[in-house]
This record gives sequence, C-alpha cells and structure tokens, in this order.
Amino acid sequence: MLTGLVFDKRFALHEMGPDHIESPRRTIAINEVLTTRLKGTYFPVETRPATEDELSLIHLPSYISFMKETAGQGYFPFDAETIAGPRTYEIACLAAGAGLVATELILTGEIDNAFALVRPPGHHAESERPMGFCFFNNLAITAEYLRRFKGIKRILIIDWDLHHGNGTQKAFYSSREVLYISLHQSPLFPGTGSASETGEKDGLGFNLNLPLRAGKTDDDYLAIFRQVITPVARAYQPEFILVSAGFDILKGDPLGRMELTPRGCGWLTDLILDLARSLCSGRLIYFLEGGYNLKELKDGVEETVLSLAGRPEPERSIPETPLSPPLLGELSPALKIFKHYWPVIPDR
Ligand SMILES: [Zn+2]
Repeated sequence: MLTGLVFDKRFALHEMGPDHIESPRRTIAINEVLTTRLKGTYFPVETRPATEDELSLIHLPSYISFMKETAGQGYFPFDAETIAGPRTYEIACLAAGAGLVATELILTGEIDNAFALVRPPGHHAESERPMGFCFFNNLAITAEYLRRFKGIKRILIIDWDLHHGNGTQKAFYSSREVLYISLHQSPLFPGTGSASETGEKDGLGFNLNLPLRAGKTDDDYLAIFRQVITPVARAYQPEFILVSAGFDILKGDPLGRMELTPRGCGWLTDLILDLARSLCSGRLIYFLEGGYNLKELKDGVEETVLSLAGRPEPERSIPETPLSPPLLGELSPALKIFKHYWPVIPDR
C-alpha cells in the first residue's frame, strides 16, 4: 500500500496562546516521528490552501470573511479555548486543503490511502462558527467535495476521537449520502452525541452515536468495531471512507480517561483498512483531530501510519474479543436504537 502523508511544518504556525493544550508542539512532535521512525514508509504529499469556494462547501461566507479578518491581527477569542491568532486563518486554510489534495491523488491512483496530519483540527467546527480548538471542518469539507464534485454518493465517516464530532454530525444530519458513526467518552465536551441523535428526514438512521463511559480499552473498541461498525459498514457499501482520528483516546491523555494503546489504534486501522479494501477499492483518508499527550500522540500516529501502509508485523495479529457482558449492558440502549435502522447488527 502506498500511503500519502499530507503534512506541512507550517501547521505549527497556528497557535492560540502560550499555554494552550492544542499547541504547535503537536506538529513538532509529529514531524519528529515522520523524519525518524516512519522515514521511508510513506509518500510525502504537499497540501494547498482550500479556496473560499471550497470552505463554503460547509461554512457560511459570513463566517469565512470574519475568519479572514482575523489574519494578521492580535488574538481573537471566539470562546475561552478557541482563539484565532495572527496566522490562524492562513494555516486553517492549509489544513482544510489537505483532504482535497489527498482525494485527487487517491482518485487518480497515485496513492492508495492518506493521512492528513493537520492542525488546527476540524470536527467541532460548525457552518457558522469555530468551536473546541477547530476553525474549519477539514473532514466535512472533503466529504462534501467528494459528493459535489466527484459523484461519490455513499461516504462512511468513522469518528474515533475522544469527543463527539458535533460539527460533522450537523453538516450531514439530513443526508443519507453520508453515514456518520462516532464513538466518544460521555459525559464530556461538547455535550452532544447521544444515541438518540440518529439523523433527520432523508438522513434518518444515517447518524450513529455510541457514547461510552470512561475506561474503555483496546479490547472494548475492537469488539465494538467488529460487532457493530463492521456489519453496518458492509450493509451501507460506502464508496469512500473518512476517519476522524483523535489520539486523545490513548491512556494518559490530559483531556480524557480512555485507556487505549498506540497498538490499539493500529489494530483499529487494520480493521478499517480491511473494510476499505473490501468495500471501496481501499479509498480511505484519515484526518488528525485531538491527542494531547505528545508521547502517546507520536506513538499513536506511528502505529496508525504503519497499519495504513499495510505493514502488519507477525505480533500485530488482532485480538479476537467479544463484547464483554458489562460493555454489552452499557451499549444495549444504543444498539436497540441502531438495530431499528440496521438490522444486520447481530443479536446476542
Ligand atoms: Zn478530541
């Protein structure tokens, strides 16, 4: 597999103040992995700024203009934690372009799949406002670009970030051309993402939320992927898969209390890669969202990239674990709702 990594050192130029947890150090840490441990395993891809027309696939022109006016100015706090610095607009445009560049290379066959290792992240950004460290919704812009310009009519989005991707959910809430599936710690920011949020109108049943209590492990996530996400994905038959990859699910993240390991992220990626290969010719783009423990972030990115590149090692064979009775008990209200729309989910 040839995996394209869309990365740019300029992603470190966006900063929201000296003590902010979503810091340029994240980009610097990723650069370190790309230039050492991962060297030679991927195809480097240059990003380009998304145009205002491309941003407006998801965002209102009035919000885009407002963001543009923050360029070159002092810090502008949209809220306590989402602050535009002097270069935020410029860098957020570069982040939003990463998925578009990857899309073109995948559709022309130059690469097999891609990881957009961007900052700022995107999945909380809504059409008219930034939120939760996110300014433009990088993944949603790519999804809408695929629908509008590439004739792709079934896009599966898997959002494994610790937090619910309210912005992505909202963008496609009434569409069946996008199936959004999110797993997230609950209760937690942003407060959305209950299992009863299943979409509306044509999109009813095409928005699946799995709120999870803290403390979930690799085995828990793998069981959920195998038992719930895989059968739904096979029934949906996506033409393209997009993933919001947040490494704030790793044990030791300062914002979360999940307990996954970097290897676990590799295993999840092995499963997603299998789905992409069997359902949509391998067409798959990952987007970096959260992940704030820099050591874990580096290790998580490393394992994920190795899996995307299809380099399983012998010891990488994925543990086969069933849904444990306590996990099944916790999930059963959500599964009951899901089964109404997706009867393929197995009975237990
Ligand atoms: Zn997050």
